Amino acid sequence: MDIHHETVSSLLQAIQAENPVISSYMLDDSMDNHALFDCLRSHYQEIMKRDFPTAWAYYTGEDRNEAAFFRLTWRAFAFIRIMDYLDHEGSSYVDGNLQGQTVVSNPIALTRKLFRGEPCEVHLDFILDVLHLLRQLNGKEIQDIPSRSQVIEWMDRHPSGLDPEVVAWREKNKRRIMVLLVERIRKENSGAKASATYRFKEGLDDADALRQVEKWWNEDRFHLRYAVRSTAEVNRYLDSSVDAQTLRIMGDAEERGIPVFATPYFLSLIDTRPVSEREHPFADEALRSYLFYSQDLVDEFGNINAWEKEDVVEPGKPNEAGWILPSHNIHRRYPNVAIFIPDTMGRACGGLCAYCQRMYDFQNGRFNFDLDKLRPKKTWSEILHESMVYFRTDPFLEDILITGGDALMSSVSSLKQVLDAVLKMARDKKRDNEVRLPEERLAEFRRVRLGTKLPIYLPQRVTKELVAVLEQFRLDAKEIGISQCIIQTHFSSAMEVSVDSAKAVRRLLDAGWAVTNQEVFTVAASRRGHTAKLRQVLNDIGVLPYYTFTVKGFKENRELFANNPRSMQEQNEEKSIGRVDYRYHSTLRSFIADAPNMVEHIESIRSADEVPFLATDRNTINLPGVGKSNTYRTIGLTSDGRRILEFEFDHTRPHSLVIEKMGSVVIIESKSVAHYLRQLQQMGEDPAEYASIWGYSAGRLEARSTVFEGMSK
Ligand code: SF4
Repeated sequence: MDIHHETVSSLLQAIQAENPVISSYMLDDSMDNHALFDCLRSHYQEIMKRDFPTAWAYYTGEDRNEAAFFRLTWRAFAFIRIMDYLDHEGSSYVDGNLQGQTVVSNPIALTRKLFRGEPCEVHLDFILDVLHLLRQLNGKEIQDIPSRSQVIEWMDRHPSGLDPEVVAWREKNKRRIMVLLVERIRKENSGAKASATYRFKEGLDDADALRQVEKWWNEDRFHLRYAVRSTAEVNRYLDSSVDAQTLRIMGDAEERGIPVFATPYFLSLIDTRPVSEREHPFADEALRSYLFYSQDLVDEFGNINAWEKEDVVEPGKPNEAGWILPSHNIHRRYPNVAIFIPDTMGRACGGLCAYCQRMYDFQNGRFNFDLDKLRPKKTWSEILHESMVYFRTDPFLEDILITGGDALMSSVSSLKQVLDAVLKMARDKKRDNEVRLPEERLAEFRRVRLGTKLPIYLPQRVTKELVAVLEQFRLDAKEIGISQCIIQTHFSSAMEVSVDSAKAVRRLLDAGWAVTNQEVFTVAASRRGHTAKLRQVLNDIGVLPYYTFTVKGFKENRELFANNPRSMQEQNEEKSIGRVDYRYHSTLRSFIADAPNMVEHIESIRSADEVPFLATDRNTINLPGVGKSNTYRTIGLTSDGRRILEFEFDHTRPHSLVIEKMGSVVIIESKSVAHYLRQLQQMGEDPAEYASIWGYSAGRLEARSTVFEGMSK
């Protein structure tokens, strides 16, 4: 056993003492394992039928709708879970975290071995999970829902990038980085790397050079030109504050071929002071966690498996979700919406997030940060045309999500070219319908979205020139029935909301584009109150939270992955204080169409309903094949304590037939709940505040907020 003997013994003694009936079954030598499983099944079945009929009906599928789920009690979840364990005992699963090795779920047989003192390879985290399950079953652990004031106290622990103290230390960072940039530009001025745009006049003194750099700081191209591309440089720009272990991992990452790319602006958001001198020691942890790579990522790089297989596109062949696509520029999972990836600079981003799914493509050399090579090629206009034909002739598509990389990385002229093509396509599709019989008409376009993280990485990119193009597009689009123009961004921390990013969001809203947010729920972002605070600060600047996404991926993203039970806990215990009363739902419906007044709209509901934020987002995960879902049950446990979850696809939205037939997908989490809690502890969190996490063994995708009514989910 790879665990501390005494801890194991005392945990096992506690389990046996607390559960005498189960223990007696486990220790009964007259029963082999199969007889034991049957005996336990009858035991739990009897209790469920008698004392938990709702849980029994949910477990058997007799009544498994949303209302039934929300009627389940804390103990009921434990009964469903133990029955699911019994039903799947001995089942094997391919574990993407172990390069496709097969793992077997046998928590009952392993627990029996432990009780009997027989040799078995289990991790302490396995025993902890079993202990908590049994305590939930026997009623020893009850659910303690935190009060609203407790949640607000948690929220207050996390500062925002708009707080004066944060603005002040970031200003100092900016000044320090500008000095480095002056040095760098001076050095380059005299060599082959000299920029035609960013060069100092002969004889410019340091004070004037600094003033010049300060002006350039407001230009997006300046930040891209002087983006930092090596670990040594990142450390220099962070005032040599990066610890030795992180430097070593980053160095190894570079050697393995993982790009490093960070704008001076983004680096100015990181607190470089010693932890002991900070007002909030771990305030920027969520930003650091995607700036710096993990040992797991370095180890797995080269062997990363694609998480979302429907993103693997072979022209002419159906993808994982059953759609035949013309090129790699279009990705599609659902009937009514498709993603369009232009062959422009939009394939790049303003930074590289450690959790990015495109690590899969970086390892294959398909992507890079060579911005010059990403300029559109001659064939691009043909590809754009072909892609638009696909959208125009498809019977279901009514929603286009333009991403990349990052849609706003495209130059303004490239983006305009794409938007013009979309407008023409939507207009043509509408016109085509005029000569069709009503029953033969194709879905017409109603929504255009742009996916971008630039308000976080490079808010300077949201220029007056860009918003002028966006505004004109919105006005033209409205004429042909496209009523929703939306910027979909990716804030994961209130610390990413800076004065500059708030200004960028304001410009987008003024151009009539609503701004929605998709958070990535990393370990740092999953701390108590962190996401609730983010929702509040986003609402302050006029952004509507849309999704809170669990980190995708296998072992390469283990460091960042916050377990699914934490997502459910956040949904139930923190987000719930922002639930909008039913009587305001009809008011919410009009918000998206009136983006310039979004701040006032949001505020009107927050003050009327006395909620700190509008809980308009859904906690969910994007799953291979089945797409977004949070409807799952825990059906097994690996010997190292990782939970095995079975997800159903979201029945409330249309899917292709392939997905409807697939039905469900099994995911093995990349780490145990205990592992996750240890990580939180290292960030200064108290695991006791997360105690109920153990009991969240099932989930249900929430209903979509009415604010997004009419939007594809
Ligand atoms: S912004 Fe999105 S696409 Fe770009 S690096 Fe981050 S996760 Fe990847």
